[in-house]
Amino acid sequence: MDCVFCKIRDGEIPSEKLYEDEDMFIIRDIEPKAAKHYLMIPKRHYKLISDMTDADAESFARALRKIPALSDKLGLNGGYRLMVNQGDDAGQTVFHLHVHILAGQPLDFPDLKK
Ligand code: 5GP
Ligand code: ZN
Repeated sequence: MDCVFCKIRDGEIPSEKLYEDEDMFIIRDIEPKAAKHYLMIPKRHYKLISDMTDADAESFARALRKIPALSDKLGLNGGYRLMVNQGDDAGQTVFHLHVHILAGQPLDFPDLKK
């Protein structure tokens, strides 16, 4: 399968893993859209929330709940935003579910209807 995040998971594409456990790993986004922009990537490959198994959902919940404990390491103490793009309208470009972690500055919340 030609998936960039699976290749990073497996070490086939080098990328510093800032955190890793049995559920997920965290890397810096290669094209940061905020002062701090990370990706929290579940280890198992699936594209959409609708593809999640019960085991994936449990793993994902565990992964989310690790993020606060990483606040100091990742610089999230001023607050952060989590974002999951799903499908075409959201502009999902990598079809391996992932959570964007945006932080390090006040985060604008644009009115996307404009
Ligand atoms: P999406 O648009 O699917 O929600 O987000 C995919 C994200 O993955 C984008 O923000 C993009 O910059 C990031 N990305 C794509 N390829 C790579 C890569 O090889 N390494 C890293 N660190 N990030 C990547
Ligand atoms: Zn993948």
